[in-house]
Amino acid sequence: MSPRLSAIAAVTGYKTNTPAMDFSETPMQDLFCANVFSKKVMQERLPKPVYKSLVKTIESGEKLDPTVADAVASAMKDWALSKGATHYAHVFYPLTGATAEKHDSFLSPDGEGGSIAEFSGSQLIQGEPDGSSFPTGGIRQTFEARGYTIWDVTSPAYILENPNGTTLCIPTAFVSWTGEALDKKTPVLRSMQALNKQAQRILKLFGHDDGAFVASTAGPEQEYFLIDRHFYFARPDLVNAGRTLFGAKPPKGQEFDDHYFGAIPERVLAFMLESERELFKLGIPVKTRHNEVAPGQYEIAPMFESANLATDHQQLLMTTLKRLAEKHGMTCLMHEKPFAGVNGSGKHVNWSLGSRSQGNLLDPGDTPHENAQFLVFCAAVIRAVYKYQGLLRAVVATASNDHRLGANEAPPAIMSVFLGDQLTDVFEQIKAGGANSSIAKGTLTVGVDVLPPLPKDAGDRNRTSPFAFTGNRFEFRAVGSNQSIAGPLVAMNTIIAESVDYCATQLEAATDGTPESLHSAIQVLLTEIMNECSSVVFNGDGYSDAWHTEAAKLGLLNMKSTPDALPYLQTPEVAELFQKYGVLSGRELESRLETYLEQYCMSINVEAKLTYNMAKTMIFPAAIRYQNELAATCTNLKMLGYDFDTDTLDEMTSLVKQLQDNVTLLQKKMDDAVGGGLIEHAKHCGEVVLPAMNAVREVADELEGIVADDIWPLPKYQEMLFIK
Ligand code: ADP
Ligand code: MG
Repeated sequence: MSPRLSAIAAVTGYKTNTPAMDFSETPMQDLFCANVFSKKVMQERLPKPVYKSLVKTIESGEKLDPTVADAVASAMKDWALSKGATHYAHVFYPLTGATAEKHDSFLSPDGEGGSIAEFSGSQLIQGEPDGSSFPTGGIRQTFEARGYTIWDVTSPAYILENPNGTTLCIPTAFVSWTGEALDKKTPVLRSMQALNKQAQRILKLFGHDDGAFVASTAGPEQEYFLIDRHFYFARPDLVNAGRTLFGAKPPKGQEFDDHYFGAIPERVLAFMLESERELFKLGIPVKTRHNEVAPGQYEIAPMFESANLATDHQQLLMTTLKRLAEKHGMTCLMHEKPFAGVNGSGKHVNWSLGSRSQGNLLDPGDTPHENAQFLVFCAAVIRAVYKYQGLLRAVVATASNDHRLGANEAPPAIMSVFLGDQLTDVFEQIKAGGANSSIAKGTLTVGVDVLPPLPKDAGDRNRTSPFAFTGNRFEFRAVGSNQSIAGPLVAMNTIIAESVDYCATQLEAATDGTPESLHSAIQVLLTEIMNECSSVVFNGDGYSDAWHTEAAKLGLLNMKSTPDALPYLQTPEVAELFQKYGVLSGRELESRLETYLEQYCMSINVEAKLTYNMAKTMIFPAAIRYQNELAATCTNLKMLGYDFDTDTLDEMTSLVKQLQDNVTLLQKKMDDAVGGGLIEHAKHCGEVVLPAMNAVREVADELEGIVADDIWPLPKYQEMLFIK
């Protein structure tokens, strides 16, 4: 039996082996944070002054007092041991986008044949993993392997449960011996600090000078696919590249829209319920779940949190989903485009900023035209997107996200801002001399007496916009489903810090000593910003050709692929931006560019090799077997004096020839000697190797439609996507 047929047999015979959970036994609310060294636990277990000092650092961003470390370590250890932990791990986030951890045992021999559990303040504060195998983009040579992990007190430690033991996990930053950031967390923390500093200046102008920390907040919506594990393992492309490199479109795709928000299949729901339970224990406030557009596609979204915490939680969410999918006999695919021709997966990152005393600074209220403080922050965001479109595009540039951006399902590669009717109108009024009114929200009546009237939102939604205002936050939709949200958040925090800085500087100068002049100064500032930047505001259909033409006329950037977009990180304006706000030094920025270009090339190379191997060892053999069958039938029939229509045989023969030719061509392109640096290599991968892979795929997909079904080796789309 072909691997495909045995996979189908196994899938249809699937029986759950996870015992049913009794949710009335342990209510969800009791589970929340059960495995987190939360503020509540700290308050119970730490001496008061230590607790107070920690909370100051966590909530107000004040300098950490290192002398508290011993007390915290000891309390943390006792708490972890009481939860059955045997090891602790510094968890860090290298540039690969993955999560890394190094486990150490709490136990040390006591010299008398016994052992004692130890965990000191210095072990809490600092670790030293051998970091030589993590990408550093030239910051270090392999022989200079020293790297340090440093305790991030703002992201709470937690217990990770495993059937065979539990581990205390401590989120950390990861830096080189020279203090340079080797990870994704450090720049997030730096960018949050920069944004807070600038936002305070605006708040002060409005008389809010309590200094409460202004944090950027993030709520990421994660899309993913689930397929049965048997299919997964029968597809070397899924296992090694995360996406199908072959596969004809199924006769029934997503055109019926019958999956979106449909009833969730039982096995999937069991997986979701268990994942949510686990995530709750880890203090991740998951809130919504639903089917997505494509068959087999789903979404999960937590409540927003401070950007740093949301980033850590997002990583933990991805690993948890993957782990629990396996337990339920499935594989969770986070790739942006696992199936060609079917909707891809993204990660919408909802972004705002706010403080404990001021709340959400992007909340317009009912009458935004009167809310000057909101208008300043909102204009700052518009200006930031306009000025740094290229950077926003560059931070979502990966080999896998290229399959999604610009196709008619995800935002285009052109960065624009959707404001909605109400805000667009307010800013238009400002441009014309001053805003005096806000379009009222109104009420929605449906014409059925038994249904209650609803307050209407101030603006409709626009699915096609990459950067949309959605009521009280902006939603960056171009982020890939497989990506860490750190990069996009660093970019947003920093470009908006720069814009807020600009606004504050203008307003401070204009109102110097005369607070009464604030409002006229704001009118001047906002008019100027809208005159310069309003071309980035676009409320129409981002998928349309008309917009592409219009955007080109307006001078907006349209960088279609990763090799086009990543080099944007090299521009002086980006380097200056990150340096000015202390987020990334020149070397740190270069190292990121280098690492991401390398990752791009590696991804395409792996895919090219896989395409080559699968075409040669799976598809070609299936094709010639069938060709042979047809030829044998033809000969036999001819010998018996019958006619045999050779149409299919002719077609097969021609396709087999094309397959061989295209595979040979792919091999040649893979072996091309490419001069120049990494950018040239990346361009070669994207412009030469990728099309050669696609040419092999095209023939193979045609063959899939002709070769006898029982011979075809790879699970087909209709099977992977529709068998639950
Ligand atoms: P939709 O699919 O309608 O866009 P969801 O409910 O799936 O919305 O997700 C919206 C996300 O936006 C949630 O994660 C939510 O917590 C987040 N969000 C809401 N307010 C803010 C805010 N002030 N800052 C950041 N994220 C926010
Ligand atoms: Mg959304």
